[in-house]
This record gives sequence, structure tokens and C-alpha cells, in this order.
Amino acid sequence: GLARVHIGRRYRLGVMGGTFDPIHHGHLVAASEVAARFDLDEVVFVPTGVPWQKKGRKVSQAEDRYLMTVIATASNPTFSVSRVDIDRPGDTYTVDTLKDLRRERGSDVDLFFITGADALSHILTWRGAEELFDLAHFIGVSRPGVPLGVKDISHLPAEKVTLLEVPAMAISSTDCRQRVGEDMPIWYLVPDGIVQYINKRGLYRDNDQTIPEDH
Ligand code: ATP
Ligand code: MG
Repeated sequence: GLARVHIGRRYRLGVMGGTFDPIHHGHLVAASEVAARFDLDEVVFVPTGVPWQKKGRKVSQAEDRYLMTVIATASNPTFSVSRVDIDRPGDTYTVDTLKDLRRERGSDVDLFFITGADALSHILTWRGAEELFDLAHFIGVSRPGVPLGVKDISHLPAEKVTLLEVPAMAISSTDCRQRVGEDMPIWYLVPDGIVQYINKRGLYRDNDQTIPEDH
């Protein structure tokens, strides 16, 4: 047959890290919007292990957060879920997440780390910050009520960071947990299967779990 050199386009993998306690439509819209704008082949959701930024509040078991993430993403053929952070012992650091994914997926994959614009401005305080920009491109998505001026990222390498406005979704996991604790509905804030999973497992009923985090 005809010898053919297939010069494939590099695979573009979005990485959406989060506590996902619970996952909600804000996360899903953000991932979907970034996937479309950046022509991503796949977005992998990566529930954190021990979220060190969130010490001081009770975080649901990793297995519950993992399963909710699987339930919420199952119907989208370009969404997947990775266990790298929940299977790695100790605190979760983004630099380890990206290194593990690169190891698993190979070197011919471009990584796009998706994060809230609020978290992005703190990026240089993360452990391994100097390595992060070699591992991935960073996309900060706007969140309603959390504006980010250009000056906030002026200290980050411009070719490695993009800010993107996504359709406004004033939804947070903190608010969802609080609502469950107060017997208020979370229908339409989270996928139907997540409402049902939360009820089935009795999550967020204990008011100790609903203390809002302070960042
Ligand atoms: P919590 O209220 O417990 O902090 P959260 O809603 O912020 O939860 P996380 O799991 O902490 O959810 O978020 C994971 C990522 O998704 C973060 O980068 C966060 O900025 C982003 N994100 C969360 N909610 C939204 C939203 N409504 N729109 C866009 N991005 C969001
Ligand atoms: Mg948060």
C-alpha cells in the first residue's frame, strides 16, 4: 500500500481539577465552554484528594466525590474522570496532578489546566509554581461575582495563561451544601443524578459540613 506519514495534530487534553463536593453545573458549563473555545479533544475531571486549601472544613469522602463526578460527566463523550489525585497519598498539588497525567497520557499530549480565575491569581503561591507553566497552559474562567482584572495576572507568563469568560453561573458547591442542610432545593443547580446521589447517601445533612470556606 501507499506509505503514508501521518502527521497528527497533538491531542489536546483539558484538566479540570476541583473538590467537586458536589460537582455542579458551573463546573460543567466551564469545562464545556473551554473545550469548545480551545478545541479540546477531551476534558478530564480530577477530584482532589486532601484539599489542603480547604482544611478547616469537613470534606466528603473521596469516593463519594469521585462517583458524583462520574455520574455528572457520564453522558458527555468528551468528558472523563481521573483518580490520580484521590489515589495519591497526601495533599493534592496541581504540579503532581499534571505530572501524573503526562506520565499516563504520554508526551505528545498538550495539557490545558482549567481553573477559576480567582484561583489563577494565587497560582504562584502553589507548590511547584515555577514548573507549572512547563507542564500546561492555564485557563482562568470567570465566575460571577469574582472579577479578575488584567493586572491580577500581569505577573504570569502571557503565552501560558488565558482568561475566558464563560456563561455566568452563580453556583458554588458551598451554596449547594448549605442548601441541602437547609432543606432548600438544588434541582437544576446540579445534574438530576447528583440530587439523587446526595439524597441516597445522606450527604451535607450534618450542618458541621456546611461552614462556608473563606477562599
Ligand atoms: P466550594 O464552594 O466548596 O469552594 P466550588 O464551587 O468553588 O466549591 P470547586 O470544586 O472548589 O467548586 O471548584 C473547582 C474549580 O471550578 C475551581 O477552579 C473553581 O474556580 C471552578 N468553579 C467553581 N464554580 C464555578 C462556576 N460557577 N463557574 C465557573 N467556574 C467555577
Ligand atoms: Mg472553590
